[in-house]
Amino acid sequence: MDADIRTAFEAALTYHKDFPKEGITFVDFFPVFRDAALVKKIVAEHATAIAMRGAVTGVTVTHIAGLDSRGFMLGPMIAAEMNLPFVPVRKAGKLPGKTIMAEYKLEYGSAKIEVQEDAVPKGATFAVVDDLLATGGTMTAAVGLLMKAGAKVDATYVAIELAGLGAASKVGAPVFAVSSVTDE
Ligand code: AMP
Repeated sequence: MDADIRTAFEAALTYHKDFPKEGITFVDFFPVFRDAALVKKIVAEHATAIAMRGAVTGVTVTHIAGLDSRGFMLGPMIAAEMNLPFVPVRKAGKLPGKTIMAEYKLEYGSAKIEVQEDAVPKGATFAVVDDLLATGGTMTAAVGLLMKAGAKVDATYVAIELAGLGAASKVGAPVFAVSSVTDE
C-alpha cells in the first residue's frame, strides 16, 4: 500500500463515539467517497493487492464478493476494475431467487446472511471485500457461506481493520487491510 494513499484515506475517516449505541465508536468511511480521486486510488490499491497475491500464489481469483452493506461500495468497483463478476452477500431475506444461508453468532443473538445460488458457479474462487473488520464475525460467516456454496475463498480485503481485536486470525482466510486503526 502506497503510504500517501493510506495517509489520505485515514485522514478522511471520521470517528463517532457511542454510535449506533453506547460503547461503540463507529468508524465512518462514507466521507472517503467525497473524494473521487481517493476512491479510485483505494480501488486500484485493492485490485493491485488481489492481482499481486495471485502472481505470488498462482491462484486466480474469479469472483469478488462484497458484504452487506458497505462492502457494496468498494466491492463492485474493484470487480469492474478487474473485469470480474461481483457477488453480494446480503442479510437474509433480501435476495430473490434460490439462496444459500449461513447463521452466525453476535454478541447478543445471531444473524443470517445469504448468497444467490446461481451467483456462485462451480469452481469459483473468491476475494471477499468489506469496509471494516471488527470482531471478524461477519467476515468469518461470509467465508463459511461461500465455501458452503461450493466456492473457494482465496483471501479477504478490508479498507479498515480495528487493531487489537485479533480478528484477522479467526477468519479462516488471509485478511489484507488498507488501514489498521484503533477506535479510541
Ligand atoms: P464484525 O463482524 O464485528 O467484524 O463487524 C464488521 C461489520 O460491522 C462490517 O460490515 C462493518 O461495516 C460493521 N462494523 C462493526 N463495527 C464497526 C465500527 N466500529 N464502525 C463501523 N462499522 C462497524
